[in-house]
Amino acid sequence: MLRSLNPPDTLALRELRAIVGDEGVTDREVDRLAYATDTYWVSQMWLDRGVTPPTPDVVVRPEEAQQVADILGLAARHGIPATPWGGGSGSQGGALALYGGILIDLKRLNRLIEIDTTSLTVTAQAGINGRTLEWAINKQGLTLAHYPASQNCATLGGYLAPRGSGVLSTKYGKAEDLVLSLEVALPDGRLVRTPPVSSHASGPQLMSLFVGSEGTLGIITEATMRLDPLPETRRFRSFVFPNIDQGLEAGRQIMTSRLRPMVLRLYDEASSVAVINRVLGTSVDGAYLVMGFDGYPEIAEAEEERARAICAALGGEDLGSAPGEHWWEHRYDFYYPPFHLHQPALYGTTDSAARFSNIAALYRAKKRLIEQDFAEWDATYIAHFSHWFPWGVMVYDRFIIRRPPEDPNEAVRLHNKVWDAAARTSVAHGGVLNEHHGIGVKLGRLMPEFLGSAWPVLQSVKDVLDPKGIMNPGKQGFEVPAHLKASANAIDMGHD
Ligand SMILES: Cc1cc2nc3c(=O)[nH]c(=O)nc-3n(C[C@H](O)[C@H](O)[C@H](O)COP(=O)(O)OP(=O)(O)OC[C@H]3O[C@@H](n4cnc5c(N)ncnc54)[C@H](O)[C@@H]3O)c2cc1C
Repeated sequence: MLRSLNPPDTLALRELRAIVGDEGVTDREVDRLAYATDTYWVSQMWLDRGVTPPTPDVVVRPEEAQQVADILGLAARHGIPATPWGGGSGSQGGALALYGGILIDLKRLNRLIEIDTTSLTVTAQAGINGRTLEWAINKQGLTLAHYPASQNCATLGGYLAPRGSGVLSTKYGKAEDLVLSLEVALPDGRLVRTPPVSSHASGPQLMSLFVGSEGTLGIITEATMRLDPLPETRRFRSFVFPNIDQGLEAGRQIMTSRLRPMVLRLYDEASSVAVINRVLGTSVDGAYLVMGFDGYPEIAEAEEERARAICAALGGEDLGSAPGEHWWEHRYDFYYPPFHLHQPALYGTTDSAARFSNIAALYRAKKRLIEQDFAEWDATYIAHFSHWFPWGVMVYDRFIIRRPPEDPNEAVRLHNKVWDAAARTSVAHGGVLNEHHGIGVKLGRLMPEFLGSAWPVLQSVKDVLDPKGIMNPGKQGFEVPAHLKASANAIDMGHD
């Protein structure tokens, strides 16, 4: 039953079947439950502790962009929420159908349309699996160079929707830097295309409205991305610094010397012990840095030589190339069993980014916050710095509470309290609310505060593109229509 639909829901179901066919629509409870959680800690905790989670009323699986547009047109006409789902690997609750309605699973939108080996670009439908896409591109001697640890389960649209990042982003850029053009289904049912390439002086960059809006302004149905040749060589080198400050200074000097490492990953002392030693079997005491250069051997070697000199001058002990190569082989192990964090522990990655002049203070303030203000919960804090820019760096930091409250509502409140404090501390020190995981439902309540005087501009864009508020409601902090808030599907997210 479509609880969000008023009146007769059978009409909408019939219309959905007409758009995608009977096999593309399901409202069986078992299917709806399969979409009750992405990797958002709260939704996983609900399932772990037997709390009934919000589920969509119906799941649809379109194969064509026009079908996606038609589904949105139908949703708008009936005032039913519509939520896009890629691989469901997001950590911010962005793909959850919080107010029921139609969940649009995009994984059948998986066609690789073209690899242009002259221009080094790929055009594909947005639901294509990341690993499948990379394999196909590799066969042409090319790479998308977007290597998130979730590549096996995420989709191309899911890379773009929260402005995701991969382990090579320091050299190749984030997903948003790789995209040239989009096709998008708008919340009123129109299908639109942005200009064919991203470099133009033909008005504002319309593409940017959809890259980063996590399905709240429309659904990406197709994307053209730039590619790179697979590198001739990849070289790695590891160092250990006596403390994090020397490591951060080494990173700053490398990035401001026009060197372009593909990898520059600096682990703080706590994470070198808790993560690096455990996963890689090393016995590092200090701040561990792995760096890598790729491309023509002579250029990669020369860049590495310069970077080594910077590290040595700052007291970095050279561990040679083997540990870095070992890290590359095991780069995803950190996020999967037996090393990943899991229920019942309460944990979160509160990644942020800031200029070099602010990053050390931001890091220290967050470490102090987690370890001191949440000491009664034995909270621990670990961090690494892994996506570097010529002006600053992203901190990938985590809080971990091994024994959170047993009561689910209390657990959610503690979860939200830590997140509020951590995100506000980032912002107070020149950082951002989030760097590459997105906002979703997790951080939506902080968006007006973070964007300040610019927030009404974004809300106005939302109001124009989605006047009925049907597009992924409850995410990114946009106002939720009153009838949805009052609906049977509305649930307490623990936001005081
Ligand atoms: C083990 C693990 C490791 C991870 N590592 C990384 C990492 O290294 N880097 C990183 O950036 N992230 C990482 N993530 C987070 C997550 O995998 C990424 O955000 C990923 O890009 C999400 O893709 P998805 O297809 O699973 O999207 P989903 O989780 O399905 O959706 C994410 C958001 O995008 C929206 N959306 C999905 N598809 C579309 C579309 N076509 N159009 C519009 N909106 C859409 C959804 O509604 C939702 O709001 C990791 C997650 C896990 C579980």
